[in-house]
Amino acid sequence: MSVALFTLGGTIAMAGHTVDGVRRLTGADLTAAVPGLADLGRPIDVQDVEAVASANLTLAKMLDVVDAASKAISNGATGIVVTQGTDTLEETAFVVDQVWPHSHPFVLTGAMRNPTLAGHDGPANLLAAARVACSPAARDLGALVVLNDEIHAARWVRKTHSTSTATFASPNAGSIGQVVEGQVRILTRPARQDGVPGRAEPADLDATRVALYTVTLDDDGLLLDGLADTHQGLVVAAYGVGHVPSALAPVLGALAERIPVVLTSRTGGGSVLRHTYKSVGSESDLLGRGLIDGGFLDPYKARVLLRLLLATGEGHDEIIAAFAQHH
Ligand code: GLU
Repeated sequence: MSVALFTLGGTIAMAGHTVDGVRRLTGADLTAAVPGLADLGRPIDVQDVEAVASANLTLAKMLDVVDAASKAISNGATGIVVTQGTDTLEETAFVVDQVWPHSHPFVLTGAMRNPTLAGHDGPANLLAAARVACSPAARDLGALVVLNDEIHAARWVRKTHSTSTATFASPNAGSIGQVVEGQVRILTRPARQDGVPGRAEPADLDATRVALYTVTLDDDGLLLDGLADTHQGLVVAAYGVGHVPSALAPVLGALAERIPVVLTSRTGGGSVLRHTYKSVGSESDLLGRGLIDGGFLDPYKARVLLRLLLATGEGHDEIIAAFAQHH
């Protein structure tokens, strides 16, 4: 049984620049640079999908990778590893988690230091990811993010630092495991949640625009004007426990009558509240105006979830139920 490795570029594969652009490593280059990979006792089947900065990845591309990974599982692979840039990894991992139908581990990894730098972290991350992909202990956990010898559940992981090799963290729950002396140690097993039913087709994704609006000091809300004419959904990254300036409350309420509007916190940890504050623009006021409680989901993952749900034709009640899993 093999590990199927899909490469998507990113810093882990960024080996400097040529006159024409970026010199990107292939999957064969990446695996050749990892001491100890051969000792895993599993062949690595490499598929180079594309070599891009992760800012250029799309939901449709990730769904294609999931399809190819499913095929690899059908052909006998024991687990999946994806290498990509770290900038969008917290979002792509959550996409995969929503649609991955298998019990086999689906592990995403990358690097913070590129291969031209001292202390390049790519080889260690790739080795740890491959170990997790082979581990029976990592089954039934959905999509996992493995960097810095830490194993994170896709639903909780965040990129928390622009340059640190310890950038990936799960502020609400902690990592669910670690790779120690080459052994995969799972410390806690979060139950899998219901994913998004159905397959979002590329045309439906293109036609499904979900905006993310971060509330800021002295915000006049002008950007929200006419938003329901151009977008099918909105995620609000609100202050603290889910608060916005009073003047924005009726604007958001009016939008929520036309499109789903999900309330999240811009703080990076914790959930929005439901019934502690009552003033205009507070969490209970906004929920009373029809906004959907995003719970513990951060704004970026909430946007991924809402777009997938809308693109697969889910209705308002199903959308509320999907977000309720994150309360
Ligand atoms: N940090 C970037 C990413 O997430 C790397 C950009 C690049 O590889 O050009 O993909």
